[in-house]
Amino acid sequence: SRKFFVGGNWKCNGTTEGVKKIVSMLNNGVVPSQDVVEVVVSPSFVYLDTVKSSLRSDFHVAAQNCWVNKGGAFTGEVSAEMLANLEIPWVILGHSERRALLNESEEFVGDKVAYALARGLKVIACVGETLEQRESGSTMDVVAAQTKTIAERLLNWTNVVLAYEPVWAIGTGKVASPAQAQEVHYELRKWLQENVSAEIAATTRIIYGGSVSGANCKELAGQPDVDGFLVGGASLKPEFIEIIKSAT
Ligand code: 13P
Repeated sequence: SRKFFVGGNWKCNGTTEGVKKIVSMLNNGVVPSQDVVEVVVSPSFVYLDTVKSSLRSDFHVAAQNCWVNKGGAFTGEVSAEMLANLEIPWVILGHSERRALLNESEEFVGDKVAYALARGLKVIACVGETLEQRESGSTMDVVAAQTKTIAERLLNWTNVVLAYEPVWAIGTGKVASPAQAQEVHYELRKWLQENVSAEIAATTRIIYGGSVSGANCKELAGQPDVDGFLVGGASLKPEFIEIIKSAT
């Protein structure tokens, strides 16, 4: 009942030419229908409109961030209203790179998620522990706290996909093992069940991100609580089509 979800986070990559090539690779890919898999790619803001207008109609786009509140005197920011105005359906919020490098706090991320949802955007909300936190045994405390800060600001989870992205697995080639991913996804779903509702726990997609590749996607996708992926590096390559295919 949870439709498989594959997101491609292009991060701060691309040129006009490069983006065209990726779009053409995606447009030519043979993948399961949108009844089976939801595909969302996330280029940099500056390429969003180009990608949106040239991408096949069964794939959708996401912004990689947006401002926490109404627009105004916030130089360099992009508001949720602007994304809604351009009919950008999705936004990624709380990515660990923004939490760590741009000092986005848990509260700030939670406020962004609530505001973007209120403006009608759908949100890929990211959580995940660092290597140090995993090694000290606090993985679940960390991801539960991050999820709680988001959950206590939300009235409705319908438009939220939760992305579990262990920081140590991002861009490192060190993918979480299927068992490691399944364990955290299971615990997150249990957390939703106990703290939000059984229905939200049963219907919310929890996707995995961190060194997902064509080679490891199938086994990860086979885990009962892994409902899809948020792919970084491999989403810029033809391999992304293989990852989409792991939906079936
Ligand atoms: P990689 O797939 O490059 O490890 O990145 C994962 C990620 O951060 C997706 O948001």
